[in-house]
Amino acid sequence: LAQTRVANFGAGPSALPESVLLEAASALINFNNTGIGIAEISHRSKEFESYIRNTAQLVREILEVPETHEVLFMQGGGTGQFSAVLLNLLARHRLLHPDIPEKDRVADYVVSGSWSKAAYTEATRLANGATVRIAADSRPHSADGKSFSGLPPHSSYSFSPDPALIYYCENETVSGTQFAGVEGTPSSFPFHLLPDKPLLPLVGDYSSSFMSRPIPRLADHAIIYAGAQKNLGPAGVTVLIVRKDVIVDVDAAAKLGGAPIPISLAYKPFATADSMPNTPSVLPLYISGLVLKRIKALGGVRYYEQFSRRKQERVYGVLKEGKERGVLVPKVREGEGSWMNIVFGINGEGAEKRFLDGAEERGLKFLKGHRSVGGIRVSLYNNVTDEWTDSVVAYIREFVEQEAA
Ligand code: PLP
Repeated sequence: LAQTRVANFGAGPSALPESVLLEAASALINFNNTGIGIAEISHRSKEFESYIRNTAQLVREILEVPETHEVLFMQGGGTGQFSAVLLNLLARHRLLHPDIPEKDRVADYVVSGSWSKAAYTEATRLANGATVRIAADSRPHSADGKSFSGLPPHSSYSFSPDPALIYYCENETVSGTQFAGVEGTPSSFPFHLLPDKPLLPLVGDYSSSFMSRPIPRLADHAIIYAGAQKNLGPAGVTVLIVRKDVIVDVDAAAKLGGAPIPISLAYKPFATADSMPNTPSVLPLYISGLVLKRIKALGGVRYYEQFSRRKQERVYGVLKEGKERGVLVPKVREGEGSWMNIVFGINGEGAEKRFLDGAEERGLKFLKGHRSVGGIRVSLYNNVTDEWTDSVVAYIREFVEQEAA
């Protein structure tokens, strides 16, 4: 069966390790010697209760999550969190500062690509009188003034003095930009520019880079979240790392103003019930747990950091060659590109189609860029192997030779 598989460069859902899939296949029939399959077993069974607790513990160990933070699992994907982070943090701000007029509760968004823009747009829908503002925007700093071709320069940030929320997306899956993992460089997230206050309401969307390298300043975040369907498992589960002061009584906050929060989006019921106030996505959680065990066994996020570094160097390398030959057009400024999603265009009439057709023939799948931006996107998530990376690099090189001739 494994031999029938092809190289999957999809942006999510994405490839999972074959060893995990085989183990999951067996658990579909019989989970943990219960005689019941994992898609059938009650989430209230002691076997699954212990499994979900161990899975949260694995996240804690791998990312060295401090005791100040809870690890939670929810549903509703990244999009669900666009709503949840705003609603929970506005509720927290209301409880902390009940006398402030609603319009003076401010949510600051760093807009560096289409996903942070989507989160900002959702916040404007749900703000209900609170102020939603853009604290930095990369678009005015691009060549055409409107595309997400890099990160906002540090000099352009303006954070509010006491915001209810500060939001950024660490890796922009569609635009292909990423904040650098090393602090102090111009392409890192500007932690040094944040307001000088304790317990900052800092939110990081880590959907498409979670578990690919350590998270800088993890403990300084109020919320980190990630949909599972890139580096972790099937779609249907969202992992959250939430600082305890953010886990508030949303009904008490609603009595002070604002709209009530749907219970499925409130963090507190999840924190008090091992992420199971209601039925969780049992099968995606199970598979994510297997992937986490594997990540830990291989050496954790430091292992994947090295692995991802090597893979992206090869792809950006061939992209540079293709640019020098006049064939390929990188879409992101050098040094600001994502390690997980590498995006570029191809010069010439019909060239992108020729590229994608040739890729298909070679069993290199899902290289088409997001429908909103077109072009090519090579996603190099954790389960994209060295061999697949070599194959796509060799193919890009061959294609450039052909087109340049
Ligand atoms: N944030 C990022 C960075 C994403 O890549 C995506 C989806 O690809 C989302 C949020 C939205 O996630 P979902 O499709 O799980 O709602």
